Parts: sequence; structure tokens; C-alpha cells
Amino acid sequence: MATTMSRIKLVAGNWKMHGSLASNLALLTAVTSGAKAFDGQFAVCVPYPYLAQAQAVLAGSKVAWGAQDVSEHALGAYTGEVSASMLNDFGCRYAIVGHSERRSFYGDTDAVVAAKFSAALKVGLTPILCVGETLDEREAGITTAVVVRQMDAVLAAAGVAALGQAVVAYEPVWAIGTGKTATPAQAQDVHAIIRARVARDDKAVAERLQILYGGSVKSTNARELFGQPDIDGGLIGGASLVAEDFLGICAAAGGQR
Ligand code: PEP
Repeated sequence: MATTMSRIKLVAGNWKMHGSLASNLALLTAVTSGAKAFDGQFAVCVPYPYLAQAQAVLAGSKVAWGAQDVSEHALGAYTGEVSASMLNDFGCRYAIVGHSERRSFYGDTDAVVAAKFSAALKVGLTPILCVGETLDEREAGITTAVVVRQMDAVLAAAGVAALGQAVVAYEPVWAIGTGKTATPAQAQDVHAIIRARVARDDKAVAERLQILYGGSVKSTNARELFGQPDIDGGLIGGASLVAEDFLGICAAAGGQR
């Protein structure tokens, strides 16, 4: 379901486990100053210990900040976990849930991802729900089945109205950090499938839903990807760690003012 409605593009950085107080300061300062030149929505998802720094540098700017995960629990004896309300204390707008690294290294199942999604929404955070197939799954011809299963888990647990307060990121696992980007046509196909799945439950929510593409996005391929009708921006890993690269992608999303 390709749509003609124009949605604001969002470019969100995922720093993963990178950074230091000193290097972050230069990066955050350059990003917030450079982003002023572009239309669109921008965000960085930083490691937990740096949320206070992100808040201090980015508050009042057009760059929002968020976390890369969130606990499915509200509070309690969950050593090492961070709750959604704690993220709220640091002014987060976003929380990534279901990143493939969480799913594969930390055992986040579809059910856990759905619970994290709901926990984030409950306190007013915008979850960025990641879905995507592995290379084996793509080669086995089950990309649609995998992505729809991942969407179904959240739709069943949280309901379609919840998707109206969320962002989805299609991240083919084989493209994350590998330098292998999905072609614009491959990405568009899956984005259209995701939108069609949401539309089955609610057309208006589907029309408004921002669906980001993630997987080796660079300033050199971003414009063509973001030019696809169902691609509403990007979730950016490696390239979000270099201000010039990230801003190049922001430019592709927002255009020069
Ligand atoms: C990611 O970490 O979500 C990601 C898309 O990484 P990269 O841009 O490095 O492929």
C-alpha cells in the first residue's frame, strides 16, 4: 500500500554502546547546531549514562533524545534494568524496542518486545519498534511472514491505536552494520507490507505511521531511500557517530531550508 500522504521524515541515531563524555559533547553540539538548517524531525538514542548529558546539550533544540531499550517492568527487583518512567525523568522522547541486537543477543522475544512497547507508551514515550528479517529468512522467502509476525505481536498486545503513538523501523538484520543496504525497492516493498498490515486494523493510523528504514544508511544512499513513498526517514547506527555523516542524512530527509 503505497500512500500519497506526506509524512514528516524522522532521522534517529542509534549510538549503540559508543561514546564518552568528551566525544559526545562535540558530537551533540555539532548535530544540534547543524540540524537547525534542515526541516524534519531528528533524534539521537544514546547509552543510558549519557542521557543527562544529551538532555543538557539538546534541551530546547530541534534534536530530541531517547534510549536504546527500556524495561518491560514499571519498577522492582530487576537488577540492571531501566524503567520507562526513569527515561521520562531525563526528558527522553523515544525508546527503541526490539532492535535486532536485543532480540538476538539478549533474548528479547516478540512477547517481551510487545511488553516493552507498552511500557514505553504508558508513560508517554514514543517507542521505535524495530522489525526485520535475517539473511536466512530472506533467502527462505519468509521476509513478509517474519515482519508481519513481529508486527502482529505488538498489535495483539497493545492494539492498533497504540501504533498511532509509535514509530516503526524496518531493519533487515543482514543490512545492519554490514555496509549492505537494502535497495530502495526492497525496502519500499517491506515498508508497504508493514503499512498494509496496520491498515488492515486501522487505515488512518497506517496513513500517519512513520516507518523508518535502518541498515547501513549513509548520506550517499539516504536520498534515494527516503524518496520511496512508504519510507519516512531512517534509524541510523554507524553513521550517527560522525556529525558530518549524520547531518548529511538529515539533509537528505529534511532538505535545505
Ligand atoms: C542500527 O543499529 O539500527 C543500524 C541500522 O546500524 P547501521 O546504520 O550501522 O547499519
